Amino acid sequence: MNKVFVYHTICEPVEALPSDIDVSARIFEQHLKWLSRRREQVVDLYSLLARSAETGFYSITFDDGFRDNLTVALPLIEKYALPMTVFAVAGFIGKKGYLSKTELRTLADHPLVTVGSHGMTHKHLSRMARDDVRNEMSDSKSFLEEVTGKRIDLLAYPFGDCDGFTEEAAEECGYTAAWSVWNGTNSRYSMWRIPLGRHDNLVRFRAKASAAYFPVKRFLKPPEVLA
Ligand SMILES: [Zn+2]
Repeated sequence: MNKVFVYHTICEPVEALPSDIDVSARIFEQHLKWLSRRREQVVDLYSLLARSAETGFYSITFDDGFRDNLTVALPLIEKYALPMTVFAVAGFIGKKGYLSKTELRTLADHPLVTVGSHGMTHKHLSRMARDDVRNEMSDSKSFLEEVTGKRIDLLAYPFGDCDGFTEEAAEECGYTAAWSVWNGTNSRYSMWRIPLGRHDNLVRFRAKASAAYFPVKRFLKPPEVLA
């Protein structure tokens, strides 16, 4: 099975951030170093989609649009020359700790970076009215397209939260594919990703990257809270 990793913020706060979303630059670099030894297997999400019938590929993604994706993660991504996708929350752009419009555009223009949508307001889509779900998807898409000047057609559901309707709506709103975390059927509009947090040192990362991880994880309850 192909593996898509999901990071959030690359930083080292004294106290763990809620939902286990912080990974230090030191640990992130260890992950990248390990991946760089499998360079030909690490691809961007479009390449991964094109290889969905194959196995053994990896992709790196970031959710939410934290500013350190540009200031801390990108220099390391460049050092190891690996591709990454940033799923930005359109409504977070310009807020403290998040990318500004200019910074997001800088990322979008970078040859190693793809930008996707993580919705407009970062709400649980499965709990929203259907029209609101469509608005989250359409409004964030057009906003991010305007900011980046690029086509935005990849989506990551906030909290990995999706259901049959969100999967239909994502397709209807013009997305090519969408990623959850563990929810959904692991089909084109609910593809699974592997969350990484501050406890994922290299040993844990390698275990998560191994072929056995998904089949084991399937039988466990998905995390209730994941940013
Ligand atoms: Zn999120």
